[in-house]
Amino acid sequence: KDIQLIRQSDAEWQIPQQSPMRVPCHVFATDAVRATLDSATLRQACNVATLPGIVTASMVMPDAHSGYGFPIGGVAAFDPDAGGVICAGGVGFDIACGVRTLVTGLTPDDVLGKRTQLADALFRSIPCGVGTGGAIPLTSVSLEAMLTGGAKWAVAHGYGTQADLDHTEEGGFMRGARPEFVSAEAKKRFMDQLGTLGSGNHYMEVQRVTDIYDATAAQAFGIAVDDILLSIHCGSRGLGHQIGTDFLPRMADKADYFGITLPEKELACAPIFSDLGQEYLGAMRAGINCALANRQVLTHLARGVFAECYSHSRLRMIYDVSHNTCKEEQHVVNGKKRLLHVHRKGATRAFGPGHPELPAFCRSVGQPVIVGGSMGTPSYILAGCTDSAKSFCSANHGAGRSMSRTTARKTIHGKDMLAVLDRMGITIRTSDMRSIAEEAPEAYKNINAVVEATEKAGLARRVARAVPLICIKG
Ligand code: 5GP
Ligand code: MN
Ligand code: MN
Repeated sequence: KDIQLIRQSDAEWQIPQQSPMRVPCHVFATDAVRATLDSATLRQACNVATLPGIVTASMVMPDAHSGYGFPIGGVAAFDPDAGGVICAGGVGFDIACGVRTLVTGLTPDDVLGKRTQLADALFRSIPCGVGTGGAIPLTSVSLEAMLTGGAKWAVAHGYGTQADLDHTEEGGFMRGARPEFVSAEAKKRFMDQLGTLGSGNHYMEVQRVTDIYDATAAQAFGIAVDDILLSIHCGSRGLGHQIGTDFLPRMADKADYFGITLPEKELACAPIFSDLGQEYLGAMRAGINCALANRQVLTHLARGVFAECYSHSRLRMIYDVSHNTCKEEQHVVNGKKRLLHVHRKGATRAFGPGHPELPAFCRSVGQPVIVGGSMGTPSYILAGCTDSAKSFCSANHGAGRSMSRTTARKTIHGKDMLAVLDRMGITIRTSDMRSIAEEAPEAYKNINAVVEATEKAGLARRVARAVPLICIKG
C-alpha cells in the first residue's frame, strides 16, 4: 500500500508511526527531491523503524535510494539500554566507505596544461578495478596493526603526516577495534588491497573550485575559488565486504534467539549488548580502520604522482569523512543525554559549530561535509550545522542514484557518454569500460537540488562547489 508522507516544513516530511513501527520516519526532502524517493526506499525506512531500541525516528536523507535492508542515505540511532541493536545492513557492506578531499596547491592552468599527462599518471599509479592488487603488501602482523591503528598506523609507516590525521574523523583511527573478530577470509582478501581504489563508484577526482558560499567556513577549511582539489572516494574493499558477509547470516540465524521479529531478513541485527553484537562492533571498527588506512595510503600514492608532474604541488587535507558507519555518540534526546549507536549508511556525520569532538580548525564553523555529485556534475563541500534533535548530526553523502545500474547500462552508451564529458573538458580514465555507463551523470539525482534540500532542512550549509576536471574511476 502507498506510504503517506505528511509535510512538516519546506524540506521535512514525516511518515507517522503505525504498528509495527516503533517510531515515525523523518524524511528530509524538498518537493523536487521528494519526487526522487521511490516507495521501496520509504518502505525500507519504515522497516528500520520497527527495530528494537530505535530512538526518535528512522531518518531519510535527501540523496536516499533503496539499498540492502536499510536505505542508502538512511540514519538510525539505537539505545543499548533500551534493547537497541546493531545492524550489519545498516552500516553497509563497504564499511567506512568515505571521501577525503585535499587542496593541491595547483592552479587551473597547471592542470589544463598537463591534463592528459596527469590523468595518465594517476591512472598508472593508482591501482583500480575489481581484484586489482596494490603496491604495498601486508603481512599478517602488519595487517593486525593496521586494523587497530587505521590512518595513524599508515602515517607511522611513512604514508602521510600528523596534519593528515588532524584532518581525519576520529583523529585517524577508530577506538574499540577488535581484529580478532575479523575472519581469516576477510583478512586474506585484503592482504594485497592496501592502497587500492576498487571498482564502480569509487574514484580519485581532480576538481576546480567554482564557487564559495560561506567565506568564513571556506577560510577555516582553507579553500578558495580556483583552487584545485583532489577527492578520493573508496572504502575497506574486500575486508569490509567479507565482514558483512560473515555477520549477516549469523545475525539472521539468531533473530529468534534474541526475540527480534525482522520485517525482512536483510535487516538482520543483534542487541548491542549481546556477544554477537559486540563481536560485530569490534570487527566493524577494524573495518573502519582498514578504510582509513586505505585512503591514507592512496593519499600517499597521489602525492607521489603530483610530485612527479609538478614541482610545486602540496596536497593538504581538508577532511576525511566516512559514510558507512555505526558510531557510539552522545546525543541529547528530549533534554536528556543518551549514549547512542548511530548508524549512518550512505550518510555522513555533520557535527555543527562548537561540537566538542571537532578538531580546532573547524570547531567554530562546523565540520566539513563532503558530498560527491557524479563524474560529470559538481560536488559540494558543506559545513555541518545540525544537532541531535534534527538528524543525530547527520547529512547526505552524495547526490544518490536515480537510476538502477541495470537501467543505466541498458539506456546509456558508455563510449558516447565519455566523448560528451571530454567535450565538456572532463577527462575520465577507467579500468572497466563495460560498466562505466552505470556511473553516468544521468544515473544520479540532481546534486544542486539535493544540496538545496540539505540546506533548507538545516542539516548542513553550502561552503564550496567544485567541478570535475579529471576522474579516475575504479
Ligand atoms: P556511494 O558511496 O553511495 O556509492 O556514492 C556516493 C555518492 O558519490 C553518490 O551518491 C554520487 O552522488 C557520488 N558520485 C558517484 N560517482 C562519482 C564521481 O565519479 N565523482 C563525484 N564527484 N561524485 C560521484
Ligand atoms: Mn561510498
Ligand atoms: Mn564504497
